[in-house]
Amino acid sequence: MKMRADVVIVGGGPAGLICGEHLAKAGLRVVVTDKRETPNREKPCGGMLTERAVKKFRISLDVAERELYGVAVSVGDKQFNVDYHERVGMNVDRTKLGLYLAERVEGEGGVIVRGEKVNEVLFSSQGVSCHGNGSYECDAVVFADGVFSLSRRSSGWKWRRDQLGLCVQYIIEVSEGNIDMLFGDRNFFYYGSEVSPFGYAWIFPRRNSLVVGVGALLSKVKVPLKNYLDHLVRGHPLVKPKLKGGRILKFETAVVPLSGLLKTICGERWIALGDAAGAVSAITGEGMYFAMESGRMGAETIIESYEEEWNCMTKYGERLRREIGGELKWSLWLRDLFLKRRGGESLDVTSKLLQRLVSDLLVGRKGCRRVILEALPLVALRRVRAVLR
Ligand SMILES: Cc1cc2nc3c(=O)[nH]c(=O)nc-3n(C[C@H](O)[C@H](O)[C@H](O)COP(=O)(O)OP(=O)(O)OC[C@H]3O[C@@H](n4cnc5c(N)ncnc54)[C@H](O)[C@@H]3O)c2cc1C
Repeated sequence: MKMRADVVIVGGGPAGLICGEHLAKAGLRVVVTDKRETPNREKPCGGMLTERAVKKFRISLDVAERELYGVAVSVGDKQFNVDYHERVGMNVDRTKLGLYLAERVEGEGGVIVRGEKVNEVLFSSQGVSCHGNGSYECDAVVFADGVFSLSRRSSGWKWRRDQLGLCVQYIIEVSEGNIDMLFGDRNFFYYGSEVSPFGYAWIFPRRNSLVVGVGALLSKVKVPLKNYLDHLVRGHPLVKPKLKGGRILKFETAVVPLSGLLKTICGERWIALGDAAGAVSAITGEGMYFAMESGRMGAETIIESYEEEWNCMTKYGERLRREIGGELKWSLWLRDLFLKRRGGESLDVTSKLLQRLVSDLLVGRKGCRRVILEALPLVALRRVRAVLR
């Protein structure tokens, strides 16, 4: 197959599909290729989509496996719940989300080429050509192809182990009634050195299954991470009873960037989005919102560039850094501060204010910088009390 488009997007995850929708809506000829028959099919993911993403990108409730109104957090042997009066997000099935976002692209006149893996992207003075089974000529290319992006391949650039998170997870079938009773509309987070070497564990309930996973910074993983997952499922005093009668349907493993935005994320005729740009929060692992945001900003830059003879593509990098780069940097700093001491166990989470701040961070209601600023008086007060004692 040979095609010609204004823009080719390699990868139909949340980043590529949101970008494609915006571009098609603006009247550009867009082709999105995905190596899977259904874009983003079975992408290993917890599936927690925070409300800021749901609202900003008008995500339909049809893709919700469960709406969320709170979180339950365990730090070592301490636990707390925070519930909200309004929805704070939803747990989604990634295959359904991919189908839904792809339909939106097509609804705006964009073309999705399914089952097309792009192996090579060539740049010339005439433009760009992308090659897989077919060939696609275009003026600009968008790399939205995830963590092991083609955009890095030609330069030989490689991730360091301290820039990646390793995740392992089970999908466990449990009856809807049991999930309603034991998990309700909360996502569960577990911290501590027993749970993960440098990260956290999660249980995110769907309609009639649970996503139970463990994530850790790859450089800190010394024994198979699956051992931690099995210990969580079979030995953790809070988790084991909740999973009684559940049936493991699937084991998944994948990596996620925990680097902050990468140094080079655009060039004259290309931009990188989402995981391909390192756009994931290092402390929460939230990537879908940042992927969608990068897709939106990428599309807006391309539209501007299209009107300006393609001479301002590099504005994308400045813009992404300005709008989300700071938040991602703070997320690295906060993660190191929090997890450094026994995976967070030393944090005293008895204060209601701190519980609320942790929860707001996990559901994306507050960014890292704001959480740090609001926690400062509490930390100062504790220091003063300790001195006076
Ligand atoms: C286990 C795990 C749990 C997670 N849980 C959450 C969570 O609960 N909430 C959250 O917000 N984030 C979570 N994340 C992070 C989130 O999944 C990612 O940050 C997000 O999916 C990034 O979106 P993306 O569009 O950049 O890339 P991806 O979603 O990775 O999409 C890339 C797409 O490109 C396609 N592709 C790749 N190479 C090619 C090629 N050469 N040619 C054509 N197509 C190609 C792939 O098929 C895929 O569809 C999790 C990550 C992991 C690993």
